[in-house]
Amino acid sequence: MTGVGPPSDAEWGRAVKALNQAGEICLACHVRPDGDALGSMLAVTHALRAPRPGVRPGAAPARVVASFGDRPFEIPRILRFLPGAGLLSPPDAFPARPQVMVTFDAASIDRLGILEASAQAAEELIVLDHHASNTGFGTVNLVGSRAAATAVLAGELIDRLGVEITRDIALGLYAGLVTDTGSFRYSTTSPGVHEYAARLLETGIDPGVVAHELWDRTPFGFLGLLSAVLGRAHLERDAVAGRGLVWTTVTRADRATRQLPFEVAESVIDVVRRADEADVAVVLKEDDDGNWQVSVRSKGAADVGRACVALGGGGHALAAGFTAHGPAADVLAALRRELAPARDQQP
Ligand code: 5GP
Ligand code: MN
Repeated sequence: MTGVGPPSDAEWGRAVKALNQAGEICLACHVRPDGDALGSMLAVTHALRAPRPGVRPGAAPARVVASFGDRPFEIPRILRFLPGAGLLSPPDAFPARPQVMVTFDAASIDRLGILEASAQAAEELIVLDHHASNTGFGTVNLVGSRAAATAVLAGELIDRLGVEITRDIALGLYAGLVTDTGSFRYSTTSPGVHEYAARLLETGIDPGVVAHELWDRTPFGFLGLLSAVLGRAHLERDAVAGRGLVWTTVTRADRATRQLPFEVAESVIDVVRRADEADVAVVLKEDDDGNWQVSVRSKGAADVGRACVALGGGGHALAAGFTAHGPAADVLAALRRELAPARDQQP
C-alpha cells in the first residue's frame, strides 16, 4: 500500500484550535483496543485534563469523555494497568452529537463499532492514525503512515497542545510504541523511534513493568489453549505463489472450556508467524458473537494490508486484519485468492 501523510502544519493547527476552543471533547479508539489504541487515547485524555497554554485563562476546563465502541464494554485485562483506565466511560454514556471528537488508531469509521454513529454526527472529527489504509473519514485527518505507532502522532499532538509529558502520559505513549513496534523489533523502529522512547523513559516510567503487564501475564488456562491451537496449525507450502501460508483457529469452544476471554487469542499470531516455511501467517479468532476476527502477518513478500482491505478490513502491508462470517475454510479460501500472486509478482 502507498503511504499517506505526514499531516501538514495547517492540519495540526486546525486540530489544536478546535481542541482549545471546545467545551466538551469526545475521544474514541478502535474496538477491542490494543496498547496503541488505548495507550494513545489515555495519554491524550490526561493531556486534555491538564492546563493548556492555548486555552483562554479563566475558561472552564473542557469536559473530556473517552470510550470505545464495544458492547459489552470491557477494558482488556492486559491494559488495565494503564493510568487513566478508570477515566473511561462506557459507550452508552458517549454523546450522540459530539462538538469535537477525536479517533485513535482507527483506519476506517466502522472500526469505532457502536460509536460510529457519534463520529458520523460529530461537528468536528479529528482522525489520529498511522494506517496506510486510512480512508480519511475525518474533517481533520492527522494521518501519517510512516509513524511507527499512533502513539507517535498522539505525542506530537500533546506537544503541539503545549502540555508537558508527565509519567501518566508517557506510560500510555510508551505502551503504544512498544506494542506497534513489537518491542522495537520491527523495521519501523527508526532512530527517531528510539529517541522518542528515550524521551518517554526520561519521565521515570519503568519499561520492565510495561513489558510484564503487556506480555508476561496470562491465566494458566492459556497454556492449554496454546498447546491445542498450535498443535492443529496447518502449513501450506504452495500457497501465496509458493511463499507458504501457516494458519490456525482459536474457537469459542477453545476458550469456553478454559473460561478464557477473547483477548487471550490476540497473542497467538505472534507464535504462529515464527514458522519459517511460510511468508504469511493467519489466525482466525472466533469472537463471542461467532464472527471471525482474522489476524494476518507477512514477512515481506505479500502485502497483507491490500488483501485485508479487499476483504473489508485494513491494516499495514505486513500486519493487517479483517472480520468475516461463515465456515473457516471459506474465509481462508477467500484470503488465499487475495494473496496469490505475492506482491513482488504483481504488475
Ligand atoms: P491484529 O491482527 O493485531 O488485530 O491487527 C493488525 C492490524 O490490522 C492492526 O493495524 C489493526 O488495526 C488492523 N485490523 C485488524 N482487524 C481489522 C478489521 O477487522 N478491520 C480493519 N479495518 N482493520 C483491522
Ligand atoms: Mn497502531
